[in-house]
Amino acid sequence: MHPAHPSAAHIQPFGAVIAVDSACRRVHSVSANLGAILDISLPEPDQLSLACLLGKRLSQRVRRAMQGRERLLAPITFVRPTDSRNVRYQIHALRSGEQVLVEIEPLQALGKWRLLGAVNERLMQLADATHQEALLDNLVGAIQELTGYDRVVVCHFDSDWHGFTLAEAREGRLPTILGQHFPASDFPVALRQAYERNAIRYIQDVKAPAVGFVPETAAPSLEDSLLRAPAADRVRYLQALEVRGSLSLAMQGDSGLWGMVVCHAAASHPTPPPVRDAARALVQMATQRLLLLRARQEARYLQRVQDSLVLSSTARKAPQSPAQLLRAHADTWMTLFRARGVALWIDGNTYQSGSSPSPTVTRQLVKRLARAHDHSGPWCSRELATNPLTRSLAMNKQCGLLAVPLPFSLEACGWLLFFRPQQVETLYWAMQPSFNQPSSSQPSVLTHPSSPAACYEHVVGKSEAWQRVERLAAVDLGEDLTLAISVYEISKLNGCLEQERKALADANQRLEQLAHFDPLTQVWNRYRIEQAIDAELVAAKRYGAQFGLLLFDVDHFKEINDTHGHALGDDVLVALARLVENSLRGCDHLGRWGGEEFIVLAKHADTEALIGLAERLRELITTLNVEGLSKPLTVSVGVTEWQLDDSCKSMVARADKAMYRAKHKGRNRVEVATRKGS
Ligand code: GH3
Ligand code: MG
Ligand code: MG
Repeated sequence: MHPAHPSAAHIQPFGAVIAVDSACRRVHSVSANLGAILDISLPEPDQLSLACLLGKRLSQRVRRAMQGRERLLAPITFVRPTDSRNVRYQIHALRSGEQVLVEIEPLQALGKWRLLGAVNERLMQLADATHQEALLDNLVGAIQELTGYDRVVVCHFDSDWHGFTLAEAREGRLPTILGQHFPASDFPVALRQAYERNAIRYIQDVKAPAVGFVPETAAPSLEDSLLRAPAADRVRYLQALEVRGSLSLAMQGDSGLWGMVVCHAAASHPTPPPVRDAARALVQMATQRLLLLRARQEARYLQRVQDSLVLSSTARKAPQSPAQLLRAHADTWMTLFRARGVALWIDGNTYQSGSSPSPTVTRQLVKRLARAHDHSGPWCSRELATNPLTRSLAMNKQCGLLAVPLPFSLEACGWLLFFRPQQVETLYWAMQPSFNQPSSSQPSVLTHPSSPAACYEHVVGKSEAWQRVERLAAVDLGEDLTLAISVYEISKLNGCLEQERKALADANQRLEQLAHFDPLTQVWNRYRIEQAIDAELVAAKRYGAQFGLLLFDVDHFKEINDTHGHALGDDVLVALARLVENSLRGCDHLGRWGGEEFIVLAKHADTEALIGLAERLRELITTLNVEGLSKPLTVSVGVTEWQLDDSCKSMVARADKAMYRAKHKGRNRVEVATRKGS
């Protein structure tokens, strides 16, 4: 009889189990069908040893093979002659707590199973698949062909552990379940963990009566046994799907269970061990290939994102502001990240494109992220309305967020934000799921959907999920943006520095003007003309060049001030300086010595040439026309050529003396200094 709730200590009747001590000698209990399976009559259990059940040699072999191991590396086969024929068996053994379970399964002659050739060919095809869809179609086709199950599907787990059938091969006896969803409660944590230890789960016939142990009190724990009878909820589950025989094979990904290949039969479906093993080889090959294809796909995607990161190279040539960056790249980024809106938050400023929240909301959002997010990776959610961090923010149009911190410095952080809208998903549930406990390991109460509508569920309030590879790519993009924006900030600072530098140069120029030029007449001041005389003396002493000075003083200038006012006096000085300056050769210089006294530094000139120049200037000055001035302007000029032991001071003093002589001799005249300076 099939018990109402088969306990853990019941097995399926297609094999038998011997539970022995950890040294594989003493028998603790045996499944009630052991005698029938081995075609022997059993003595009382307390007199049993493994040796008397399996024979000395075989039991020794099992004992040796189990030494230091959790399970047998490979099954052991043996043949037992009965009255009519030889029966082949396969032995498997595994540790369960303090016991060792020896599982015995009769092997039928394979007959129609021509395994090797067909499986090899299929393995090659799987190894060559270039697309996930073709690969999975090929896999379910191969397994269906190999095992003869009515329906073979690949079921993939999403991030919430809901299952989703991706591929199916069918032979008509059972309805399709392609595209259907299975609630996470169909795959409780305990079950998923069991798959990690034991990649195959096999139920030959849910309706087959479960077999107990003798003595019942010494029944072992069968958790990892292939023969274990299905639990009551599993039986109900399969019956609701109109399934009697089932074989499931785990598809183990890099980070846990990626999915499963599930085989269903409407009737009891014996599947010999070599066939199960061959199916497992196919699944493993396909899983490896699948992981490779997905890794390649992710690498291609990351490359596309990398290609969009032209910023780093162009940014150095023509740095762009955050606003310019966003304007130029927002569309590309939104396509790559399947987002409807993108925003940059930098230093209190928000830049956005597409469907993004208002700047005020963005500011609040960023504040919360900065407070709650304590690592450099991205933050993401597909349910902003229910996430504790975001639920009170007014983001009606945005449902999903991928937020990448942009670490400009230890103190300053910006954010790159991608937004996704709600995506209403229609799930077609194979069973009435228990939505309240999506990840519960408790058996869910499953009922067959009462009406077709009950099979459908519209999932609202969620955006499309952010894929791992998208989060990785967002980090790349974030790093690139941080760099590009830093380059921009630096170039902006450099711009400011350049302005400062210019201002400084202007100031220096003004300072030089002040230091070297007379503010009224704009000719050289006394300091500058002294410098020039000194320099000329050095050159003259070294190269023996000729040069000299003309010192002239305006005659009766005080009178002009007194008669016409100081302002006109100034005008006269300016006009005089312009007139003289414009009449000089390019190599000669005019400087204001003080008051109404000026000096002309004349190069390449001997005394004769100096006198000529002085006379020319004296005459020219009498022609000066200044409005308001009643009398012609005259000057008295002292002239001197440089002498070997001259300094600036001695030279000017000689010229000054000569000038005073000119004053005394009646003004408006030129006097030449004597050699001795009189
Ligand atoms: P002399 O022919 O002997 O040189 O007679 P003078 O009046 O020119 O000589 P004095 O040295 O007595 O007068 C010079 C005057 O020049 C006195 C001063 O007020 C005037 N002066 C000096 N610098 C300036 C100036 O920048 N602007 C004006 N308007 N007058 C100045
Ligand atoms: Mg004067
Ligand atoms: Mg004077």
